[in-house]
Amino acid sequence: MAGIYIHIPFCRQKCYYCDFYKTVNTSLQQKFLSTLLTEIKERKNYLQNETIETIYFGGGTPSVLSNWELAQILSSIADSFTVSSGVEITFEANPDDLTNSYLKAIQQAGVNRLSIGIQSFQDSHLKKMNRRHNAAEAIEVIKNAAEIGFDNISADLIYGLPNLNQTEWKDSLQQVFQLPVQHLSAYHLTYHEGTAFYTWLKKGTLKELNETESVDQFTTLLKYANKAGFEQYEISNFAKNEMYSKHNTSYWMGIKYLGLGPSAHSFDGKSRRWNVSHVESYIKAFANKSDYFEEEILSEKDRFNEYILTRIRTKWGLSLDFVNQHFGAENRAYLLKQTSKYINTGMVLLNGDVITLSNKGLFISDEIMADLIII
Ligand code: SF4
Repeated sequence: MAGIYIHIPFCRQKCYYCDFYKTVNTSLQQKFLSTLLTEIKERKNYLQNETIETIYFGGGTPSVLSNWELAQILSSIADSFTVSSGVEITFEANPDDLTNSYLKAIQQAGVNRLSIGIQSFQDSHLKKMNRRHNAAEAIEVIKNAAEIGFDNISADLIYGLPNLNQTEWKDSLQQVFQLPVQHLSAYHLTYHEGTAFYTWLKKGTLKELNETESVDQFTTLLKYANKAGFEQYEISNFAKNEMYSKHNTSYWMGIKYLGLGPSAHSFDGKSRRWNVSHVESYIKAFANKSDYFEEEILSEKDRFNEYILTRIRTKWGLSLDFVNQHFGAENRAYLLKQTSKYINTGMVLLNGDVITLSNKGLFISDEIMADLIII
């Protein structure tokens, strides 16, 4: 069992908060595509014949691909890998690209899960983020996608935006839960170095939302999601009727995955690889048959820390038995010792051999994680 991630590094314009690797130079799209098809073939043994259960198109903006380009990528994957008949194929898309004919075409190509970047239902905030769509378009696109037959739709929202108030945030949540979506990813804004928002924050032309307001917005999110019947299965992810993102869940479960395209990461159980974060260098490296990735062999400590950092964020939590089996009794004792103060204060829950964050603990998850990993 394994997954494939494909990074489509093109965007029509740059959102002011975004630090994913992307370029607006779409003239490279053809060359990128042929390089990607080469990479698929070259790396067909990376997953050691594991069956592909999930394929995820992320970016950048996968919806810059034509349906023909998408079909070519999927057919090349099918030629090189064993793909499960029930494979989850997720496609990240921006609302402004999703015309009805495009939706039908990507569905025909095999996409069965849409992840739509809505971010906000307030046009003023969408403008401030430099998003290309408005709220009305986002609503229409989701309704159209559902009518066309997509029954696994995820929406992305961002909270903690500068000047976002509770009324606006509640409105966004109300709107999203009225739509035919089965999944919500809601992230607090992060000011990443290199983004326009970061520059403006440093210059003082943009003001960070205060912490109390941020915490209130997270509390509102939990309350509204719960009321709408969405289960929080990871700090930022909520699903109805257990319609979890199988692909993202497999990252948290330590399942192998192959990352294709510039900046994509791969994991084969023992090591991590990351491709060069530059589309021209990626294309050139394949043309010259030179290295296009870096690799790190994971030590036992690295694997232990990754287990903590990924699993504690989920509803499945950490298993003391698993730690005992894979990392030894000493690390099990260490983990129990490190969590005891949080268990005593109700931040962390211990049920049988499973450690999870309580609702209170979710608010200080970064602090708890930092205390549980081995430095
Ligand atoms: S948020 Fe998406 S569309 Fe906007 S710049 Fe980042 S990758 Fe591109």
